[in-house]
Amino acid sequence: MGGAELGFIQEAFEKNYIAPLGENVTGFEEAIKAFTGAKYALGVSSGTAALHLALRALGVGAGDKIAVSSFTFIGSVSPIIYQNAEPIFVDSDEKSWNIDPNLLEICCKKHKPKALILVHLYGQAADMDAICAICDRYGVALIEDAAEALGATHRGRFCGAIAPIGVYSFNGNKIITTSGGGMLVASDEAPIKKALFLATQAREKAAHYEHREIGYNYRMSNITAGIGRGQALVLSKRVERRREIFEFYRRALGDLPVSFMPELPLTRGNRWLTTITIEEKAIPPERLRLALEEENIESRPLWKPMHLQPLFQNAERLISGVSQKLFEKGLCLPSGTAMSADDLEFIAAAIKRAFGAGA
Ligand SMILES: *Cc1c(COP(=O)(O)O)cnc(C)c1O
Repeated sequence: MGGAELGFIQEAFEKNYIAPLGENVTGFEEAIKAFTGAKYALGVSSGTAALHLALRALGVGAGDKIAVSSFTFIGSVSPIIYQNAEPIFVDSDEKSWNIDPNLLEICCKKHKPKALILVHLYGQAADMDAICAICDRYGVALIEDAAEALGATHRGRFCGAIAPIGVYSFNGNKIITTSGGGMLVASDEAPIKKALFLATQAREKAAHYEHREIGYNYRMSNITAGIGRGQALVLSKRVERRREIFEFYRRALGDLPVSFMPELPLTRGNRWLTTITIEEKAIPPERLRLALEEENIESRPLWKPMHLQPLFQNAERLISGVSQKLFEKGLCLPSGTAMSADDLEFIAAAIKRAFGAGA
């Protein structure tokens, strides 16, 4: 936590405003709009809920085809399934680890998807120039899944607020957190109005609760939004610290047979997680992970690509093998901003020892 969160929560208690809505929700939406340059925003219960509302606002329904990055967390994909729509998984390129524009173009030609859910993975901005041009050319609605990329930029514009619709997550592991929460942002008011209606049980304008379509209980609470307002005050600092942690690892581990996640020209990632890939002739990532665990250091495999998940074995896909290779060679290092300089030195030493033992 940054320090100011409790003050905002205290205020909600003093005004006895514990219900959803209230000053903190509006204040947090304003803070995210001011930071990212998004014109409209809606605080909701999770990033997954925000993506679900984005699909509903675009009218996505049964049988619609939705292109989506295969290299991602399941939360990018579940809302497609909630809508009985059909995900089409598109592989990554090596330059960005994000969706490969060449494969996306083939996907658009072949499948004519209604929308693309574009993930900015691990806080790394995707190749927006190429991707926006393809979406324009084929009439594909673009949704940015910036759940991991709040604070990252492409040509100075904030990821999530570049396309007409974008999504952020404030889950406990993200760059800032409300313990759980998300936000839908948009350049137009219409999708946000529709999403607000759906997020509050799709209640028509009548005192007696009239319903014409099905909605959800997806709104953010005024208490968690209070945490968000405090977190928004430290967002820039968090990004700077994550980038420092990344640079520390790059310097400290520079002599090992590892590579770091690239950063596209004209972009600046938030370096949400520092991720490495390990050369094949060195040690397997799983051996490094277990060696670190022995020293009470938690590291994690990269996301297992969606096209390799048993759940999606029959789904359409455009695959080059890049994300599978990254998954097999990669590891996420401890990246939390609460770590001290000593913690980082301790981790780097343990990693070097593990490589020494594996040689
Ligand atoms: C975390 C995450 C989500 C979902 O956000 P929640 O707030 O956990 O529902 C969606 N997409 C990506 C890429 C994520 O990392």
